[in-house]
Amino acid sequence: TGFALTATPAGRRADARAGKRRIPRFATAGRVADVEVRAGDWWWTGSVVGPDASSACLSLAVDGSLAVLLAGELYNQDELAGALGDPGLAEAGDAQLLLACLKCYGPHAFRLLNGRFAALAADGGALVAATDHCGGVPLYLTAVADGRVSVATEAKTLLAVADVGAGGHPVAGLRAVRGSDGVHQVPAGGAVVAEAAAGRPRTRLVRTWTPPLHRRYLPERQALREVREALERAVHRRLRDGPGHTAVLSGGIDSSAVAALAASADGALHTVSMGTDLRDEFREARLVADHLARTRPGPPGPRHTEIRIGTAELLAELPWTVWASECTDPEVVEYLLPLAALYRRLPTGRPLRILTGYGADIPLGGMHREVDRPAALDDAVAHDMDTFDGLNEMSPVLSGAAGHWTTHPYWDRDLLESLVTLEAGLKRRHGRDKWVLREAVADLLPAETVRRPKLGVHEGSGTTSSFTLLLREHGVPDARIAAAKGAVVRRLYDAVVAGAAHPDEIDLAHETKAALAGQDAAGP
Ligand code: ATP
Ligand code: MG
Ligand code: MG
Ligand code: MG
Repeated sequence: TGFALTATPAGRRADARAGKRRIPRFATAGRVADVEVRAGDWWWTGSVVGPDASSACLSLAVDGSLAVLLAGELYNQDELAGALGDPGLAEAGDAQLLLACLKCYGPHAFRLLNGRFAALAADGGALVAATDHCGGVPLYLTAVADGRVSVATEAKTLLAVADVGAGGHPVAGLRAVRGSDGVHQVPAGGAVVAEAAAGRPRTRLVRTWTPPLHRRYLPERQALREVREALERAVHRRLRDGPGHTAVLSGGIDSSAVAALAASADGALHTVSMGTDLRDEFREARLVADHLARTRPGPPGPRHTEIRIGTAELLAELPWTVWASECTDPEVVEYLLPLAALYRRLPTGRPLRILTGYGADIPLGGMHREVDRPAALDDAVAHDMDTFDGLNEMSPVLSGAAGHWTTHPYWDRDLLESLVTLEAGLKRRHGRDKWVLREAVADLLPAETVRRPKLGVHEGSGTTSSFTLLLREHGVPDARIAAAKGAVVRRLYDAVVAGAAHPDEIDLAHETKAALAGQDAAGP
């Protein structure tokens, strides 16, 4: 789900109507609908996109001078309703609940939310554009000279609704987006507040979350209990359309733990595993699926599917992956490529709610095999928590391009805070990486799964080696493979995001050659 809207100060309704109204082309699949709403002292005009059947992840609430448009969902409705002193609000719907929070707390309401969302809100003359604590639903913004503000969940669609040609203004605290003049990304845990005023819009950034830097030592048993309970809550909060949720399962500890906890609450959980002709983790994933089928209460066992993708087909998904994620980091694109390819091969017809094990390695330092001292591990965790923003790793557009919704329990705000702040010696312990997680779920999984060393999604699926082979075929020497991957990814980004081309129009071989030629011209 997503939106691309321009907010015009209400006194200038004619401008709102006369404004550029090209229909934006979202990577998110679904029905695109026109919007024209009076929201506080603003007119919102533009488009929203969402699946036809369920509007669960896209909702609008308007009440007097307050309005909220929410692309995504909340996970702490009970807490919020409690804070507002009205338990009934927990069932009111997420946009309505957020509206009630805004009425009480103003833009600081966003500091209370545990969710996966991008939101646009109006509170009288104040316009608020916010994303969740991890920027889980990316949000882009441009502030135009005459007081209008355009916002969109995909950078490429902002260009269609905003008069960026009229000159976007820099917004303090926001990163400019590559190749798109005047377009900025709202930072993770950020709410941009704009005041309706004549002339240059006045904007300020309210920080609503920041990765914690303190660390806590807990006795082993207490740490295990805390992680188990937080993970269980994070998974259960995400089972919303059941039964019959989907979990993408590699057989690694992160996704296996999620699948086990989801299966205990959803007897019709479906697990899916992808592989290529180069490599797969089918045996390891099957081991978990079979175990869950035997151990869970009642029928039926989890249905498990294996999807094998040829490496040429996999690489052909590169333009789609960049189009959906709007990511320019080649390493992250390698993590996302196999998942994007998998999502596009799931059954269509009904939007699926997909749980992943994505992101567990960031707070737990799972990918830092080279590091052994706790101090170095904690430095690595702090660094990764400091640099994830803007990579769009968690973006729902990756599956949204195939019409499905993903949610990542490990980046639940409560669980993430718990994991990040654990003292590093609880993360790597007794010679094991992610020790605290492995032990916390050991009773739910086969011993082999609990002990299995970490294997990255880009490794287990053969994605890194496929991309490397492609570049070798183009004559790139090994020492320059990493740089060449970056050049190809940026070239694709410039075509499908900044250049607004559709990924199916992209000739990968041609773009690869052009990217490599550009690199040669630029010198080593
Ligand atoms: P570990 O990090 O210990 O290997 P993991 O495999 O579950 O555990 P990652 O390798 O970090 O986690 O992969 C991230 C997530 O992507 C997984 O948790 C899973 O949800 C999904 N995923 C990874 N590989 C596959 C695959 N081959 N098939 C389906 N989903 C996958
Ligand atoms: Mg992992
Ligand atoms: Mg990194
Ligand atoms: Mg793995």
